[in-house]
Amino acid sequence: MSEDRRNMQRCIELAQKARDAGDHPFGAVIVDETGAVVAEERNRENTECDVTWHAEIGALRKLTRSMGTNCLEGMTLYTSGEPCIMCAAAIRKTGVSRVVFGAHSRKPFRPEPHPFTDPQFAENDLPEVQGGYMEDECLRVQGRGAENGGAS
Ligand SMILES: [Zn+2]
Repeated sequence: MSEDRRNMQRCIELAQKARDAGDHPFGAVIVDETGAVVAEERNRENTECDVTWHAEIGALRKLTRSMGTNCLEGMTLYTSGEPCIMCAAAIRKTGVSRVVFGAHSRKPFRPEPHPFTDPQFAENDLPEVQGGYMEDECLRVQGRGAENGGAS
């Protein structure tokens, strides 16, 4: 199993845990330059009564606190769903080098300029972004399988 596949599979497992707990079905994993998993988190918006507790933000927060730095250059963030505007901005702020996401958003909020490309976040290099990776599996955990046209 490739590293990308293994990490996205873990995101899907975390998304299922979130779903089982009554949270939104999303999971995120961060790996360092060596490919070691250094943080993972699931969505906890409902259980923590915190609308900012998206899987990506949770994983970023855990990692920056444990490392004692806001700089995550060289890291790769995997997430089962397309990062929202809040998470995209946080990802840019930390300088994560690569983002791999699964399911595209059903109602993508893509303002122009987007945080992944907005010059106001230009203190860090743009991350390499790969979307739609293992999308069918990621849609399924959201209850948006291809069999129902992507609608849940
Ligand atoms: Zn988000």
